[in-house]
Amino acid sequence: MKDSKRIISPLFIIERYIKFLVVIWTIIVATSLIWSIIRIKKETVEEARIQAQISYVKDILYRRWNAMHGGVYVPVTEETQPNPYLSGIPERDITTPSGRHLTLMNPAYMTRQVYGLMEEKYGVIGHITSLNPIRPENSPDAWETKALQAFEQGKTEVSSIEEIEGKEYFRFMHRFITEENCLKCHAEQGYHQGDIRGGISVSIPMEPLRAIEHRHIVTFSVVHSLLWLVGLGGIILSMQEIRRSEQERKQAEEELRKKTDELARSNAELEQFASAVSHDLKEPLLAITIGLKLLKKRYEDKLDSEGDSLITDTIDEAIQMQTLISDMLLYSRVGTGGKPFVPTDCATVLNRSLANLRIPLEQSGAVVTHDPLPEVMADPIQLSQLLQNLISNAIKFRREEKPSIHISALRKEKEWVFSVSDNGIGIPSEYSAEIFEIFQRLHNKKEYPGTGIGLATCKKIVERHGGHIWVESEPGEGSTFYFTIPDKEKSI
Ligand code: ADP
Repeated sequence: MKDSKRIISPLFIIERYIKFLVVIWTIIVATSLIWSIIRIKKETVEEARIQAQISYVKDILYRRWNAMHGGVYVPVTEETQPNPYLSGIPERDITTPSGRHLTLMNPAYMTRQVYGLMEEKYGVIGHITSLNPIRPENSPDAWETKALQAFEQGKTEVSSIEEIEGKEYFRFMHRFITEENCLKCHAEQGYHQGDIRGGISVSIPMEPLRAIEHRHIVTFSVVHSLLWLVGLGGIILSMQEIRRSEQERKQAEEELRKKTDELARSNAELEQFASAVSHDLKEPLLAITIGLKLLKKRYEDKLDSEGDSLITDTIDEAIQMQTLISDMLLYSRVGTGGKPFVPTDCATVLNRSLANLRIPLEQSGAVVTHDPLPEVMADPIQLSQLLQNLISNAIKFRREEKPSIHISALRKEKEWVFSVSDNGIGIPSEYSAEIFEIFQRLHNKKEYPGTGIGLATCKKIVERHGGHIWVESEPGEGSTFYFTIPDKEKSI
């Protein structure tokens, strides 16, 4: 059957993440550039609009000035001939006392001349027009006609970008209201004060503005490209850095895996060796012990006292060796021989430990009490072994009075802190770490029998469960052994 679960490597995820970052960064920079270009283009049109408005306002002002004076007299020249459309006005042409000929120039005539100059010098086209012009030359073009029609619909201003003779212009037109002064020339056409008489159109050449706009766009494009490159460089550098550390992590993981495998292998080998050795040793040892006991029984009275005590000591040594082998076997099996963790009721486990310790408990007259104990995820056999070791030590390292042993458990953050306290001989603080090492004992075998493996086994069991163990003690005041068991989720 095919394995349906696909393992996605962290590097693959990182690379996808980086690609995503590059795309996002490109989108951000591109969006910013597009937005900037749109803004620059809008500003160009706004600039043209401002120029057109200023030009229009000025036209209105000097026209008004002219109209305020009922027209102004200017010398008659080749370019400035008397205006035929003012022929109806008395004193259109006058002669100064010195004989100079002057002719009346009305706002329209003046504007026309100024517009001529303006177009020649700056390319700005001005036009005063209406749907009903006095001069046929003032007739509107197609765009102006539309604008004039829009004014009649109530619009005050019309503008757009248009082409005039193949060149781009910003065309602007403002409606023109008949003022009192205008009626001097335009009353004949039937206009009244306040009527919309037409419009002034101004066409601003876009070429110089577009040149400025182009420069801005180029600058912005260059700046954005640089910014994009810098960001891209940053992303690539950090990607390389992440890749490097990911590779290092993988290598370290691989090495750790190899070491763990090696350790597991050597542990398994050690365990095999220990079981083989213990099995091979146990039987002859048992035979030796039985033989020695028989020897003692049969020849106890026939040997002298030195012979008797020699046999007794040898039996003790053989028993000690049996205990040592069993303890070592227990110690070596903590790692590899453990059972899976299951929900474990600690009170039940404690009762099992106490049952195993029935004889020493009875002999010592020990009193064991405990608080309510929780359920934890653990290997129940090992947890029972752990409590058994601690309680048996509490019985063994007692003072004159009867041992009083108390077991409790306290919930702290994400773990349970268990304690086993006694009223025994206590431990000098300088040895509080050492006693958890294998074969470390603070007393000789005559004083207190033992192998020095019990606490090392406890430590191994606690660590297998993800906790830690320590002791707090005062010589002569008793000891409290603490160990923690993480409060893991129950496996379903
Ligand atoms: P063992 O009990 O076989 O000597 P352990 O590894 O169980 O070995 O203990 C190591 C040493 O720690 C003991 O020899 C003893 O000196 C000290 N010890 C352990 N438990 C206690 C206790 N409850 N009170 C005083 N000393 C203790």
